[in-house]
This record gives sequence, structure tokens and C-alpha cells, in this order.
Amino acid sequence: MTEGYRSILFKIHTVILLGVFLLAPCAIERAAAGPSTDSIQKRIIVLDPGHGGYDNGAKGSEATLEKTAALEFARVLAEALKNSYEVVLTRTDDYRVDLLTRTATANHINADLFISIHTGGSFLHQAGGISMYYYEKASTSAFGSEPDAMETLKRGTLQTPWSDIQNKHRDASKTLAEFIMSRINQTPEFKADIQGAPLMVLEGADMPAVLIEIGYITNPVDEKNLNDISWMTDASSRIKSGIDDFFEKRQ
Ligand SMILES: [Zn+2]
Repeated sequence: MTEGYRSILFKIHTVILLGVFLLAPCAIERAAAGPSTDSIQKRIIVLDPGHGGYDNGAKGSEATLEKTAALEFARVLAEALKNSYEVVLTRTDDYRVDLLTRTATANHINADLFISIHTGGSFLHQAGGISMYYYEKASTSAFGSEPDAMETLKRGTLQTPWSDIQNKHRDASKTLAEFIMSRINQTPEFKADIQGAPLMVLEGADMPAVLIEIGYITNPVDEKNLNDISWMTDASSRIKSGIDDFFEKRQ
């Protein structure tokens, strides 16, 4: 990356972050309970609950909304992570946050990981399970079907292509997804898979980043799980173990 390009990126970040802090100061909440004077610097993980406000995302047959399930799961995952990491949420209530602001939040605080949380949605009610995505450019992606996340991205307000920022973290992001998948799949009642996909919500993240669809909200069993605190706690514990593995074991 050239210095000129770096300077332009810095300016873009600065403008965006002025917007973040002047227009939406409540959009960022540090979920970590630890005091800021902690002598040990914790790694920072940004959790990004998808959708919000008028953007409901997908809807389950029992009327569960994806935006609600994503936020609830992010809160449970934040609880699982907060003793080991500093956790920041891109939204903490039911309001809309545009895609650029989500990754700008993570970039501004030099987060170590960015994890976007969604659910899957399909007219096929049998479609189910946890799906994880890392960023892969469209030309090289093996991405065949369109997940719900793509619908979000098409409706996004992102004007400036940041297509090369996440690209340099592609291998690390894929490795992160693999560590998480390995932990999720340790017992047969959980099932996760991984795909590369050109997801715009990950495109601007300047750190390893994955999008997790934490079950299909249109699948009756998955929808029930997404309203079950013990299931969410178990799934969150597995995701945390995968994140721990990533920091401890990756080469
Ligand atoms: Zn979604």
C-alpha cells in the first residue's frame, strides 16, 4: 500500500468517524465490564448485529425477526467473551446502522476481529444450520447461493468501494472461520459450514473478519434455538473457543 493511498484511507476514516461520533454517539457501547485502567491490554473484538430499525432482515414462522435474534445473540456472545476480550457492539438497540459505519467502528479502534452476526433465511424450511462467511472477491468466490446477508448488502448505502482492505486479511479470516467451525462441529447437534463470499459488510474491515449466520430463522428448529438462552450460551461458548484457538494456534 502506498503512503498516498494510506493517507486517503486515513482521511476517509476520519470523516466517517466524525460522523459516527457526532451523529450516532450511542451506536458504540463497550460491553466489557473491566475498567479502562486494566494493566493488561485485552484484544478488541467488534460484534456487529445485522439489520436494525426499519430493516428487519428475515422473519421466522413464529414471527421472530432476524434483527432481534442477531442483537440477542450478540449480547450473549459478548457475555461469553468479555472476561477475555474487550467487546464492542456496533449497535446496542433497535436502530439502523449503515454498513460503512459498522466496519468504520472496528477500524477506528484498531479492533483485532470483526464478527458480523446474522441469521439465514430461506423459503425452504428444511434449510438450517450455522453458516460462516469470509470475504472473497466475486471473481474467485465459490459462492453459489445467495444468503440473506447479500440482500442486506444490496440495500446498503455504501458508496465508496473498499474492496482491497479486507482482501489482505482473507487468509486470516478464513482461518478464523475454520477454527470456529471446528469448535461448533465438535458435537453432532451443532452443524456449521464455511463459504467465501463477496460480502460488502466485511469488505471495509481492516482486520480478520467473518459473518456468522447463527442458524436459519425460517427453520422452525433453528428459530426455537434462537429464542433459547441455553442454546445461545452453548453456541457462544463454542465460538469463543474458536476465537481463542485462532489467537493461540494460528501460524
Ligand atoms: Zn441478515
